[in-house]
Amino acid sequence: MINVFQPSLGEEELEAIREVFSRNWLGYGPRTQTFETEFAAHLKVDREGVLFINSCTSGLFMAMELLELGPADDVVLPSVNFVANANAVAVTGAQPVFCDVDPHTLNPTVADVERALTPRTKAVVVLHYGGHPGEIAGIAALCRDRGVALVEDAACSIASSVDGTMCGTFGDIGVWSLDARKIITTGDGGVIRVRDPELARRAHRLAYHGMVDRSSFTAMADMRRRWWELAVQEIGRRTIGNDITAAIGSVQLRRLDGFVARRRAIAGTYDRMLAGVEGIRLPPPLPAGHVGSHYFYWVQLDAAIRDQVAEDLLERGIYTTFRYPPLHRTPLYRADRHLPHTDEAAETTLLLPVHQGLTDEDVETVVGELLKAVENRSGRAAANGGGGTR
Ligand SMILES: *Cc1c(COP(=O)(O)O)cnc(C)c1O
Repeated sequence: MINVFQPSLGEEELEAIREVFSRNWLGYGPRTQTFETEFAAHLKVDREGVLFINSCTSGLFMAMELLELGPADDVVLPSVNFVANANAVAVTGAQPVFCDVDPHTLNPTVADVERALTPRTKAVVVLHYGGHPGEIAGIAALCRDRGVALVEDAACSIASSVDGTMCGTFGDIGVWSLDARKIITTGDGGVIRVRDPELARRAHRLAYHGMVDRSSFTAMADMRRRWWELAVQEIGRRTIGNDITAAIGSVQLRRLDGFVARRRAIAGTYDRMLAGVEGIRLPPPLPAGHVGSHYFYWVQLDAAIRDQVAEDLLERGIYTTFRYPPLHRTPLYRADRHLPHTDEAAETTLLLPVHQGLTDEDVETVVGELLKAVENRSGRAAANGGGGTR
């Protein structure tokens, strides 16, 4: 089976775990702090605002809590989105307001976001589809202009940037995922980065029971009297990372550039081999100054054949998928809207396998089978559409 996503872990990660075992300190500790420092350096931001947590989802929930959203607020987000974003908004009582996307980049444009703003809008939450930065710089400027908070779900875009600024650092809060399907992984894990220092301190408290002082896990406990008493300042949760997963993260982060280079080469091969093929539309090229993470590679097919092509490929041992099924169609969010580009993209887009473990031969196999499936199914669709009497 050729997978659509696949992690790459090996001896170096095992060695890092072994080292944590030998220290016998497993919870939040020195390895976590090192990883946070390294991640901040990767993002080119201050270390204080960066927190290693147990998932991107818990980071998104925390982001909405930090913004103090409530039932009087609207939050604009693209409908082509991972469900965690809408849940994180809805749980606060705020109303998710889904915006449309460009039908080919699957990223919202500045105009898409602007059209969805209301006087009640308190925040905008965007992701960078497949690792393409999209119009993030323009969206950040729009949000600043309107006095609306910007949260970036940078789960797809760990290595993406625009003119040297990393995706996830344009807005007020950025969140990354290190779950098993992402470019680099810690099994489960995430990172949240909070720009405002005061809010960042609050993030630290919320991540551990609302406690001001983490004496129980900062090894060098403050030796005041009754050190076992807790300084609980507000209601927090328990979303911190730990030294085992952080140790894996440090190794993975060092390997990131190599992973992305390989993914970029694979995307380039798809671009070349599929260029000009009738019935297959390729993802738009990255604009000048944009660097992508190549988390997804997608093609767009006639809606009449997309699902069948996916089935044919699965039969041939090639797994493809579509991310992210539009959320405006989910009744739970009480947000029925007409989003024509989103609907179009959701019916035509198919993600092909891209991960650093693919061989050149795998990529050629995917291309060969895709071409066959598209030709086959287009022929049949045309025959049916043309009266179907044969
Ligand atoms: C994977 C993903 C998430 C969720 O990440 P977890 O770490 O599993 O919580 C959120 N948003 C996007 C865009 C994702 O791709």
